[in-house]
Amino acid sequence: MDTTAPEPRSVLITGGNRGIGRAIAEEFVRRGDKVAVTSRSGQGGPEGALTVAADITDGASLDAAFAEIEAAHGPVEVLVANAGITDDQLLLRMDDASFESVVDTNLTGSFRTVKRSIKGMMRKKKGRIILISSVVGLYGSPGQVNYAASKSGLVGIARSLTRELGSRGITANVVAPGYIATEMTDGLPEELKSQYLKAIPAARFADPSEVARVVAFLAGDDASYISGAVIPVDGGLGMGH
Ligand code: NDP
Repeated sequence: MDTTAPEPRSVLITGGNRGIGRAIAEEFVRRGDKVAVTSRSGQGGPEGALTVAADITDGASLDAAFAEIEAAHGPVEVLVANAGITDDQLLLRMDDASFESVVDTNLTGSFRTVKRSIKGMMRKKKGRIILISSVVGLYGSPGQVNYAASKSGLVGIARSLTRELGSRGITANVVAPGYIATEMTDGLPEELKSQYLKAIPAARFADPSEVARVVAFLAGDDASYISGAVIPVDGGLGMGH
């Protein structure tokens, strides 16, 4: 029996100071990995993780964050592109600025982060990329044309990456959470929350740790042959899409 502990990996989670990202960071810390998280302030990550400042809409800020993380932990081996925003409006009232800022953060921001991670992964012939999408990306949601467009775009990124880099030991997958209790969902109107509750077969909202454990599985050896997949963590809301 092999009793050697797995080598700690260099793991980066964007937006790891709160919500789902923080729960993911805590899970990797618990598993013994070298964990770095970003937040725009450069503060607030969980104990045991390195917190660095990065705004994923700003390439120079991301470059500086990657330099700091690589100096401390080595090249990123597991990337979790989690940082994201909403700016909900019915389409008739949604202006270009709202559409563009949500896409720039959620979709282009993930592209920027992935692009900076893959060189090291290609060199090592090993890497894990996990993109945090949403049930809304495939299910749709009134008032979220910008958000849904940004989140469904992540599926295209993961599948194209799988085709580009699959032969180099790199996997790219999408996790699509449903309704998870975080600051992002706390602010939703009570009426909308009760509508969601009725639509979710599990009849409850999820804790961020329930997403975190799925992400950790996709980053682990047991998921070595899963790539280009969309894994829902939504209590059945999207019926597997
Ligand atoms: P929160 O609002 O609690 O946290 C969002 C995180 O993203 C924060 O860490 C925030 O950092 C970071 N962030 C936002 N904009 C930027 C930026 N420009 N540059 C760097 N970091 C940024 O959200 P959740 O934890 O709820 O959501 C996390 C992810 O999960 C998002 O991608 C979201 O779309 C997705 N998701 C959430 C669901 C839910 O029910 N909660 C459902 C489905 C998907 P800062 O502190 O600097 O603002």
